[in-house]
Amino acid sequence: RKTVKTVLTEGASHAGEIVDVKGWVRTRRGNKNVQFVALNDGSTINNLQIVFDLSKFSDDDLKAITTGSSIHVQGELVASQGAGQSVEVQARELEVYGTAPGDYPLQKKGHTLEFLREKAHLRPRTNTFGAVLRIRHALAYAIHKFFNDKGFYYFHTPLITASDCEGAGAQFQVTTLPLNDLPKDEAGNIDYSQDFFGKLASLTVSGQLEGELGATALGLIYTFGPTFRAENSNTPRHLSEFWMIEPEMAFYEIADNMDLAEEFIKYCITYALEHCADDIKFLNDHFDKELIDRLKFVVENDFVRLPYTEGVKILEESGKKFEFPVYWGVDLASEHERYLVEEHFKKPVILTDYPKEIKAFYMKLNDDGKTVRAMDVLFPKIGEIIGGSQREENYEKLQKRIEELGLTGMDWYMDTRKYGTVPHSGFGLGFERLVLFVTGMQNIRDVIPFPRYPKNCEF
Ligand code: ATP
Ligand code: MG
Ligand code: MG
Ligand code: MG
Repeated sequence: RKTVKTVLTEGASHAGEIVDVKGWVRTRRGNKNVQFVALNDGSTINNLQIVFDLSKFSDDDLKAITTGSSIHVQGELVASQGAGQSVEVQARELEVYGTAPGDYPLQKKGHTLEFLREKAHLRPRTNTFGAVLRIRHALAYAIHKFFNDKGFYYFHTPLITASDCEGAGAQFQVTTLPLNDLPKDEAGNIDYSQDFFGKLASLTVSGQLEGELGATALGLIYTFGPTFRAENSNTPRHLSEFWMIEPEMAFYEIADNMDLAEEFIKYCITYALEHCADDIKFLNDHFDKELIDRLKFVVENDFVRLPYTEGVKILEESGKKFEFPVYWGVDLASEHERYLVEEHFKKPVILTDYPKEIKAFYMKLNDDGKTVRAMDVLFPKIGEIIGGSQREENYEKLQKRIEELGLTGMDWYMDTRKYGTVPHSGFGLGFERLVLFVTGMQNIRDVIPFPRYPKNCEF
């Protein structure tokens, strides 16, 4: 059995063949002599036209094929006169698996994205979400291919963890304690020694710390898995459950890290442009007329590399009124990041050497004692798409930072520095932010099949 994609790709060279196609009815139209059904099976954005000659099919036969119904058609593949399609199928046999009754929510064309978010369980059947989800798949595949071809190993870090990588306190707790009868110790604190793991466990916010153990054993590794953050961010760029790609490289300094990040992201976008041309064109034509140009521009131009201190100076001197004031030491908000990228440089920017206070404990301290070897990759429309750094490899310096911040339970992590420490670097790319950029969608909730965000976990 051929998919709609295969039938359309093979095209008229296979005219005359008898084909079996299965899928869902997108639309039906016609007159009393002939009816046309647009059939889609999810394999491509394009529909296959099925022609029903009403001298061979009765009204009753066709009553069952409403929008959303699932059917099986056998018929002859013929060259098509219709614009935009090379072949169509002259139906001979029809089998209806399931008729969709009149309350099918996706009857009309052009539903709003807000409406579709409320029907998240059905929206993959729309053109828009079909396109987004196929692009999402292609990007996931490109990511594995990129790293595999470069000799990186896919390293699996745990989803349930006892450490807080970013120290941002945005972890979801994993517990089996009875919430109505929590065991307390003498001081009145919850006694986690009675919990399932014998201590407080959480869902991971990042696989990096464990990834560093992989890199200091296998050399080059990457993780690619779900991460969870209980931050109450109702923004178009944050999810509570999102996927992250985190390469970690032994013997890489910060400049190598930047080179890899830039090459990697360009590779992924190029892969999507080549392998998802129809889907990207659909999104370009329907939602974002500059999408394809923007994608090509990013791939074809060098990213700007600039220290945070200079970036802040540009923002201060811009004369622009930002919602959040900007000064040296502040963590940049997406409005600042987008100003640098979209208005000042008009190119993606890699901002480096951030103040140590606004970055995580593990980043390598610069000689100035104030900044760390951090790098954030900033993109048009998105702001931060990647956060990375060279890691502090010096045992004493790292131990001092851990003590300053009052972190505990890090002995396992410190062993990477204690036993044969090496310079190493890595970064985290938020997968949905990449999908957001490549699809041109506006809201991160629209690039994952089942979005999780505050007050939204329906099934
Ligand atoms: P932001 O400043 O946008 O909140 P962050 O600095 O907190 O991001 P990092 O801890 O650096 O994020 O995580 C690495 C990457 O993961 C980010 O660059 C971003 O692409 C992605 N990311 C972070 N938080 C989220 C989230 N809540 N939803 C989706 N992607 C996220
Ligand atoms: Mg954040
Ligand atoms: Mg950030
Ligand atoms: Mg970051």
